[in-house]
Amino acid sequence: MNLNTVTEVKRPLSAEEIIDWPEGYAWLAGGTWLFSTPQVDTHTLVDLQSLRWPALQVTADGLEIAATCTLAELAHFEAPPNWKAAPLFKMCCDSLLASFKVWNAATVGGNICMSLPAGSMISLTASLEGTYTLWPREGAPRTIAAVDFVAGNNENALRPGELLRSIHLPARALSKRFAFRRASLTQLGRSAIIVIGTQAPGADDLVLTVTAATVKPFQLRFDRVPDDRTLREAIFSTIPEADYFEDVHGSAVYKRHLTYYFAEQIRAELLNGAKE
Ligand SMILES: Cc1cc2nc3c(=O)[nH]c(=O)nc-3n(C[C@H](O)[C@H](O)[C@H](O)COP(=O)(O)OP(=O)(O)OC[C@H]3O[C@@H](n4cnc5c(N)ncnc54)[C@H](O)[C@@H]3O)c2cc1C
Repeated sequence: MNLNTVTEVKRPLSAEEIIDWPEGYAWLAGGTWLFSTPQVDTHTLVDLQSLRWPALQVTADGLEIAATCTLAELAHFEAPPNWKAAPLFKMCCDSLLASFKVWNAATVGGNICMSLPAGSMISLTASLEGTYTLWPREGAPRTIAAVDFVAGNNENALRPGELLRSIHLPARALSKRFAFRRASLTQLGRSAIIVIGTQAPGADDLVLTVTAATVKPFQLRFDRVPDDRTLREAIFSTIPEADYFEDVHGSAVYKRHLTYYFAEQIRAELLNGAKE
């Protein structure tokens, strides 16, 4: 849609060009959300694509994903063969209510900064133990664990004008085996729940990440795959009842039920994996 309150679009070549951050400014990434609804409080868009950050960079430590990397670029990325968790990239892109047209424009950073429960780039980066680099308008860059970035539905750790620059996924996490469960009320609908379990190669630990069903990500860590009762108790004591997310894509009770159901499936799957 046309945003008829917007009077200026800035296209900086470097983020340092944007010093002030008055009311009415907004970073523009893929624009798939920004242009989907009136932005009555916004008069200036600052286009991130003009910064031309490389989308994906493999390093000795893992993968650097620019905030401006599109979902299409991430979904088609060819990972090193020992990154056993890399199929999660496409699975999480497929978890959005979005066609290929949205994939070609929507960015990883835009999805994270929207901070919707169904933001599957949050599911991906939290489950793979990612770290976000944030660029404040003033002061030094700071980092935050992906699992701690989202504070609630459409709420996050960004300060006014602060920019999500990149996401680091450690090679250690990318090398893990994984189990993935997702449900949606409609076949191509918004995710009601995504649960991802990961396990280090040759180990029998378990990292379980619950998203979409809850207003923010929850992560449970076990040194060894627990028994079913221990897992249930851990979920009960970690996720407050009030943090299950109720919306048109499912009631809180339904999402809580699926959380326990999928977590148990993942536990059983990775328990068997650990015996291999
Ligand atoms: C058909 C359709 C289906 C959708 N389905 C889903 C879904 O299932 N789940 C879901 O979570 N969302 C969904 N969305 C919403 C949205 O399109 C996605 O979240 C998308 O990934 C947003 O990315 P974008 O690059 O287009 O962000 P934009 O629309 O450009 O920006 C989104 C917000 O993030 C801010 N922002 C963007 N990048 C940065 C950055 N690097 N640093 C700081 N702030 C930044 C912007 O200022 C804006 O407030 C859907 C949208 C459409 C049109």
